[in-house]
Amino acid sequence: MGDIKKVLIANRGEIALRILRACREMGLKTVAVYSQADRDLKHVLLADEAVCIGPPAAAKSYLNMAAIISAAEITQADAIHPGYGFMSENADFAESVERSGFIFIGPRSETIRLMGSKTNAKAEMIAAGVPCVPGSDGALPEDDQACLEIAAKVGYPVLIKAASGGGGRGMQVVRTEEELLEKIQIARTEALNAFKDATVFLEKYLETPRHVEVQVLADGQGNAIHLGERDCSMQRRNQKVVEECTAPGVTDEQREEIGKLCVEACKRINYRGAGTFEFLYDQGQFYFIEMNTRIQVEHPVTEMVTGVDLIREMIRIASGKALTKKQGNIRMRGHAIECRINAENPRTFVPSPGTITKYHAPGGPGVRMDTHIYTGYRVPPHYDSMIGKLICWGNTRTSAIARMQHALSEMIIEGIDTNINLQKRIMADKVFQRGEHNIHYLADMLAEWQTE
Ligand code: ADP
Repeated sequence: MGDIKKVLIANRGEIALRILRACREMGLKTVAVYSQADRDLKHVLLADEAVCIGPPAAAKSYLNMAAIISAAEITQADAIHPGYGFMSENADFAESVERSGFIFIGPRSETIRLMGSKTNAKAEMIAAGVPCVPGSDGALPEDDQACLEIAAKVGYPVLIKAASGGGGRGMQVVRTEEELLEKIQIARTEALNAFKDATVFLEKYLETPRHVEVQVLADGQGNAIHLGERDCSMQRRNQKVVEECTAPGVTDEQREEIGKLCVEACKRINYRGAGTFEFLYDQGQFYFIEMNTRIQVEHPVTEMVTGVDLIREMIRIASGKALTKKQGNIRMRGHAIECRINAENPRTFVPSPGTITKYHAPGGPGVRMDTHIYTGYRVPPHYDSMIGKLICWGNTRTSAIARMQHALSEMIIEGIDTNINLQKRIMADKVFQRGEHNIHYLADMLAEWQTE
């Protein structure tokens, strides 16, 4: 831990630009690293220094540990911010960064490793008193009879999940006892192929939950606070499409209660940095599913409601400063919604890379557009299709939705397909407007749309 004067941004796109802006406000120098496909990224043009770290394929650039650490050495950066995705939850990367003498802007590598295992994470949470989805006590055993007994005890339907899983892969819903053993085998094979770890566990499958998550900040020096919750139930294939802060229906008392438990859990694992506890929320109850040990895509909705700059706090914490904000300083003011803007066909979801021939940003009070795009920018085909995030704040959820509708209709992106029309439909949807949607709702809405 030490002073940070120069930050290397080990990411691309909107989050790289977001981190660059925070660094500039803090008077810190910035180093951009980019692939050969990303020379024209806005933050690359704005950074104090920029280093090409490899060819377009992420595996050879943004996931290339040696190239990123060499870039930090050449430019004499002090710290590395991993953003989200790519190296952000890779414990080996965090460890190499620190071994090479740089500050990793995030948790200690042991924490990333601990939370990277869903079974270990759950065990920690149970010990900390955080409510979890009922299920197997850790990994499922090899013995068939034992598995059948565990599932019967939990009660069908159950969900088989990969201990090292991510991105919604390696999960199997099991509705009856007859299919249990076969589905366990399928899940084990998928998990081994995708995550090089065949360990699976079992959970009660909740039929119609919402996804509600709690944002935390902790300094690794015994101080931790929560910044309320976000609802991210509008999802397609486990990918979040719309997020909001606060979550509809969650009361101040519930927020305090679950927030306090998350804070206790942070203290227990001596957490450092920004983090998110993800829960399924069903019939007014929270059930922990996993912890993300990094900044999340949807962090701006929390920033808009609390007024706290989360990236700035991450950098302060990484430089060894104690949290100055106390829980009592955190006030939830109004409501914020984020619509992810993707370069994709709104009906088929096929990615739509290409040159943006015209871009008009929405604006006005309470409107925030986090994006790296500009007129003439070419969206490369090699990466995630998200090209920006439109975030709108209002005094109430209703006024935030109304503002989002105006902002979406103001935004013009030409030359590529985008999901702007899908977002307009979601904002106009009565069930969404009443805050009654769950994690399956968007799939149903899309199925209906396809038949029109
Ligand atoms: P991953 O790390 O692969 O994203 P998660 O544990 O975060 O896995 O789960 C991803 C998604 O799967 C959740 O957002 C939720 O939609 C669904 N899910 C996970 N656990 C359950 C469960 N016990 N019951 C119902 N749905 C679940």
